[in-house]
Amino acid sequence: MLKTALFAFMLLIYGGDAFGQDAGGFADAAIMTVVIDPGHGGDDTGAQGPSGTDEKDITLSIALKLADALRERLGAIVLLTRETDVFVPLEARTAFANANRADLFISIHANAAANRDARGIETFFLSMDSTDEDARRLAAFENSADSSVEDVFLEGGNDLKDILVDMASTSSHHESSRLAEAVHMSMLGKTGREGRGVKQAPFVVLVGATMPAILVEVGFISNPSEERLLTSKKEQSLAAAAIADGVASFRDLTAKRRSFIEVSGKTIEK
Ligand SMILES: [Zn+2]
Repeated sequence: MLKTALFAFMLLIYGGDAFGQDAGGFADAAIMTVVIDPGHGGDDTGAQGPSGTDEKDITLSIALKLADALRERLGAIVLLTRETDVFVPLEARTAFANANRADLFISIHANAAANRDARGIETFFLSMDSTDEDARRLAAFENSADSSVEDVFLEGGNDLKDILVDMASTSSHHESSRLAEAVHMSMLGKTGREGRGVKQAPFVVLVGATMPAILVEVGFISNPSEERLLTSKKEQSLAAAAIADGVASFRDLTAKRRSFIEVSGKTIEK
C-alpha cells in the first residue's frame, strides 16, 4: 500500500516528460535557483553525537550558512526545505525543489557509525545500487527518518526500481555525479579534512528530483573530534563556503561543456 502510494506520488512529481528534461538549466539563465535541504528536523533528530549533539541542528546551521554563501557569492536564489526545527517528510523535500523549478538540490547530513574512529566527508548521488555496505546501511538509516517510507529499494523487481533505472539515463543523473564530484573536491581542498569518496546509494530524499541532486555527509557526528568540529561555527562556515565553491565550479564547468558542445555541433552531452 505504502509502496503503491509512493509510486503514484513519484509519477505525479515526475509528470509527463520530466525524464527527458534538460538538466541544469542555470547555464542558460542569469540566475540559478538552489534548494538546500537541511536533513531531519523536529522529532526526527537524526544521528546523535557522544556529547549529545543532534544531527538536525548541525544540518540546519550549515544549510543557513550555505544559503548566505550561495546568495552572496553566486547571486543565486536559494530556498530551504526547512528554516526552523520542524519535521518535513522526505518526499516533500524533493517535491518542493521540483515545484520551485530548482536548478540544483543539495541535502545536508552528518554521518554516524558504530566505530567511533570513523571520520571524513562523503558525497552521494542517487543510485539503486549502493557503492558499498556502509553506503547501503547509511541510506537505510537516513530513509528510516521518515516512518512513512518503506525501505522499498531492497526488495527489487518493483516499479520503483524501474523508475530508478530510467532515472539513471537522464542528463540530470549524469549532472548529479558531476555536481557531487565538484562539491566533494572543494570540501576536501578547503577544509583539509579526510575524504571518503563520492558514492552512490538509494536515498529516498533524492528520488524524483528533476534537477542535479546530491546529499553531502559533512562529517561523522559519532566521532568525538568531528562532533566538536561540526559544532564549531567557524568550521560550519568553512564547510558552507566549500560547498558553495563546489557549486560555482560545477556551474562554470557546465557552462564550458555546453559551449563546447554548441561549437562542435554535438547534440548529445554525456
Ligand atoms: Zn541524516
